[in-house]
Amino acid sequence: MKFRTLIEQMSLEDKIALCSGADFFNTRSFEKYGIPSIMMTDGPHGLRKQLESVDHLGVANSIPATCFPTASLTACSWDRALLREMGVAIAEEALQEGVSIVLGPGVNIKRNPLCGRNFEYFSEDPYLSGEMAAAWIEGLQSLDVGASLKHFAANNQESERMASDSIIDERALRELYLPAFEKAVKSAQPATVMCAYNKLNGVYCSDHRYLLRDILRDAWGFKGVIVTDWGAMHDRVKAFDAGLDLEMPASQGYFDESVMAAVRQGELLEEHINVSVDRLLDLIFTSATKHQPGYRYNAESHHMLAKTIAANSAVLLKNEGNMLPIKKGTKIALMGALAKTLRYQGAGSSHINPTKLTSLTDGFDEIGLGYTYFEGYSLQGAGDDVLLIEAVAGARTCDVAVIVAGLPEEAESEGFDRNTLAMPDSHNRLIAEVAEANPNTVVVLVGGAPVEMPWLQNVKGILHMYLSGQAGGLAAAELLMGIVNPSGKLAESYPLSYADVPSAGFYEDGGKQAQYREGLYVGYRYYDKAQKEVLFPFGHGLSYTTFAYSDLTIIPVNLTSSYELDICFSITNTGDVDGAEIVQVYVGAIGSSIYRPEKELKEFTKVWLKPGETQRVSLHLASRSFAIYDVKSGDWVIPNGRYRISVGRSSQDIRLQEDIKVNGQEVLPLSEHVSEWYHHPSRPVTQADFESLLGRKIEPVKPWRRGEYTLECTFKDMKASLIIRQIVKGIGKAIAKGFGGVDYQNPTFKMMMESATSTPLKNLGQLSPDSMPKHVIQGIVHLANGKYIQGILSFILKPNEEKAQTLS
Ligand code: BGC
Repeated sequence: MKFRTLIEQMSLEDKIALCSGADFFNTRSFEKYGIPSIMMTDGPHGLRKQLESVDHLGVANSIPATCFPTASLTACSWDRALLREMGVAIAEEALQEGVSIVLGPGVNIKRNPLCGRNFEYFSEDPYLSGEMAAAWIEGLQSLDVGASLKHFAANNQESERMASDSIIDERALRELYLPAFEKAVKSAQPATVMCAYNKLNGVYCSDHRYLLRDILRDAWGFKGVIVTDWGAMHDRVKAFDAGLDLEMPASQGYFDESVMAAVRQGELLEEHINVSVDRLLDLIFTSATKHQPGYRYNAESHHMLAKTIAANSAVLLKNEGNMLPIKKGTKIALMGALAKTLRYQGAGSSHINPTKLTSLTDGFDEIGLGYTYFEGYSLQGAGDDVLLIEAVAGARTCDVAVIVAGLPEEAESEGFDRNTLAMPDSHNRLIAEVAEANPNTVVVLVGGAPVEMPWLQNVKGILHMYLSGQAGGLAAAELLMGIVNPSGKLAESYPLSYADVPSAGFYEDGGKQAQYREGLYVGYRYYDKAQKEVLFPFGHGLSYTTFAYSDLTIIPVNLTSSYELDICFSITNTGDVDGAEIVQVYVGAIGSSIYRPEKELKEFTKVWLKPGETQRVSLHLASRSFAIYDVKSGDWVIPNGRYRISVGRSSQDIRLQEDIKVNGQEVLPLSEHVSEWYHHPSRPVTQADFESLLGRKIEPVKPWRRGEYTLECTFKDMKASLIIRQIVKGIGKAIAKGFGGVDYQNPTFKMMMESATSTPLKNLGQLSPDSMPKHVIQGIVHLANGKYIQGILSFILKPNEEKAQTLS
């Protein structure tokens, strides 16, 4: 232990206190031991440092910082170097602001396109997510600012995010939901990992020994600090035992007594606390000594970097008849309220106060491009016939109509999920009617997640900007005009309609039990296997030039085993402008008796080529590329057999292919009892199918009954109680005051309401110990249970810890 001498001087109380924050974003300092405090702030696409009022939902303002594109767009760059650069730039801003830890990146898998927080995550694919995250972390940490890899783990929905239980089979966990974390931990060693709010297979992530100790620390060798998500602590005694170190934010000693008691009674080894303190001291002292007071970053160059990242990530989805780039001298109608008021980031804890903002109209102005602007629809989303008619008339008088449309602010946010894949009617109508009036219609899509496109066949071009950060408007203008050649590719599949999504039908229940019935079949892994047509496949993206692939050679690297390979091939720019191509290598087992996806992404790179230029590309496939997680042996194994190596432009546009024999292990079918659905997913998956995969029955979630409520309940759980309904009304009114009335159109209002009503009371108390001290929430639970005298006594007498324990 590095700090043994110091730790021996510290009292047990102080050690426990150190392992809980000082306030919302700072760790505790202890002058008597010479321990300074360090600051953490969100992340991940910029710095959200709050000065006056602090919160974890992005409600109060923060100091200006560069708002880079969100992960939903940066992932489409498939460019490790670019992500690294972004990490470096955010670290520079953190250095200026004295921030030691930036709370990101988020690498949760996009399991379902309705997840409200998908805009903050990279991909439906773990390999791509892990590579992007590792590069970002390396960049950030190259300047000694620490990252916080989040949310560990299986945090794939926002509904009931504080209390839901993600039920996942071991293979899906190991092969789909954990590898991005594993990659980032093993190759970039983030300073901290943040545990998720939810439960995983029945245990809250904050207390999950298997997840935190067995997997993260012992198997992957994570040496850093594990911190809770804000207010995610459940049982601090179990959490110490599980290897979790730091509770955030400060909970004013909410759980300290229970930890003291557990140590006194021998239920918790003090050494577990010592080890956590040691890790924390290491983080604090290394961060504190690296501070550079007086450091100044260059805001203008960061703005331009934000533009470069957006421009190199945006995805050209469609370009019929080479409609784009727009030729000089073309008469352009620029339409849609989002052209002027660009949606460039999502709501919630990642919300940045940008240093500068370039909308599409600004971007057009900046590059000196003439256009006529039509609002087309009102920002509030409601249809406005006058705006529509004006836009359609305008479209008739111009050569090209460029419509900016997609998901408005209120559609997606941290804290709640979307309830539809549809764009607002007003946007769809504008596109459909303008396209009818002018055949040269191009859509610039904005929004952090897939949408349905009923007008797809009627428009000539679609440029997807996702949430493109503060310089997104300029990036879009440069792409539309061909100043920059689009080179991004989708990091997720676009289904034809929501009904095609493998978890459709049970995901959107958003209940407390999240059954991951589809197992490994998320995104393209499912659409491939089920042979379902999609709107746009994973990995799709066009360019203003064309590329040819040739001469595939597969070279075994390791002669003792034939499953480490170099994949070599040539790629040529066959068009007449400079361009970049993202080449993707997929691996699939042929005729496997084990349930597996058709193919999975195992390597990729981005190649920049001048017209006519050819490059020989060599990509390495490590042995993990062929492996599956063998639940019986608890290890990775490579099943013997034939494998198909596919090199392509997208998951569905394969240009080169070769089958090879891999001398792996004789693996017994792991699937003898697994339902046929996992071999042929041709109908909706049922709970019974899933139980066959899990190897156990799933207990239904028992609704809470009045009289049995505990501190684990949320206000929603206790809604049978009249008193609770009154309290919730009161909370609603109090929140509404800050918004000039009840406003479910405002994502922040909606998020705050969701958060207040679906957070277990214990955690609400932890998050706001001043307004919700422990004795008050205990009193509320008594009242809800109909124990009025005990309730009133709790309010007045502040019952001691022993009584509190009997409640929870
Ligand atoms: C979010 C985290 C964030 C934290 C601090 C939580 O609500 O889930 O991603 O880092 O707040 O703001």
